[in-house]
Amino acid sequence: MSFDLNSLLRAHILRLQPYTSARDEYTGKEGVFLDANENPFGSITSEDFNRYPDPYQSALKEEISKIKGVRPSQIFLGNGSDEAIDLLYRAFCNPGKDNVILLPPTYGMYEVSAHINDVEIRKVSLTTDFQLQPQKILEAADANSKILFICSPNNPSGNKMKRADILFLLEKFPGLVVVDEAYIDFSDEPSFTTELSRFPNLLVMQTFSKAWGLASLRLGMAFGSEDLIRILNKIKPPYNISGLTQETVLSAIKDKAKVDRMIRDILSERDFLHEELEKFPFVQKIHPSHANFLLVQIPNANRVYDDLIEEKVIVRNRAKVLLCVDCLRITVGTREENKALLKALSKVCS
Ligand SMILES: *Cc1c(COP(=O)(O)O)cnc(C)c1O
Repeated sequence: MSFDLNSLLRAHILRLQPYTSARDEYTGKEGVFLDANENPFGSITSEDFNRYPDPYQSALKEEISKIKGVRPSQIFLGNGSDEAIDLLYRAFCNPGKDNVILLPPTYGMYEVSAHINDVEIRKVSLTTDFQLQPQKILEAADANSKILFICSPNNPSGNKMKRADILFLLEKFPGLVVVDEAYIDFSDEPSFTTELSRFPNLLVMQTFSKAWGLASLRLGMAFGSEDLIRILNKIKPPYNISGLTQETVLSAIKDKAKVDRMIRDILSERDFLHEELEKFPFVQKIHPSHANFLLVQIPNANRVYDDLIEEKVIVRNRAKVLLCVDCLRITVGTREENKALLKALSKVCS
């Protein structure tokens, strides 16, 4: 279908003149820098942080481009994926007028961010086996439906969505389709970044918080058309990614072998945890996972959750979430942590 990004955009964002930072006007590395009111003597810390970082994270995007097979101009970097989610709302959704479509049970930030931005939410639940209902999603949409959030592999259920369903929605949905791939590294599913050239309404989100083990640094990625990425860059806070984060990730990203090793270890621990949980007679269901967690159904999950805390084992209680009755979401830990979880669980459930 024909897709016009500018007509989807809020009118004042289309007109907006972005902030131009001191470093936009002169990009050379050599010189006497008296343009940004920085401290010329250095920092209070042993390492120097006195200069503002690159607002466009060019060096980092160059490296990410290589491992993701996406041009640097198609990459947006945010202070966590959560920043990209918020910027999408602010760019496309007129408060009190536009709406977004959410597919519960799913990641909570889509909803919180909608509330923060005073944007109407239309919910179309997943099926009981956590798959999409494409026809119902289209029926829920109207001319003011600006964004559809699809999380695949999905949090908290752990499954991946059928690729054909996502492709169908990319063809038919009138607004942007966000495919949140925070857990893609734990799945055998290829990324939707390969579909970017076909679908100008697609935005793929990934993160350094999970497989890369960098949750504390706060670095999320979004991949989309150059026009879409330009919009996010235009409205982001100029220095949204700290220099420390840029430099740390830039040097870490070269050790792709270590990430692959960690992913392998997590997947083998996921198998271990699954096998051991299956042996417990009280475990009703372990949902198949393409992520680094397992959604597990256990009778009286609320009580079990509290009792586990008494044992100093903290899992995520999803028992009150739609389609997740009596479910706990358990992150895959180290062998030692998984054994501690199993021991505590067998104690509080016997
Ligand atoms: C963890 C997670 C993220 C990552 O968020 P960051 O802000 O990048 O840490 C994004 N989406 C989903 C579904 C997640 O579970």
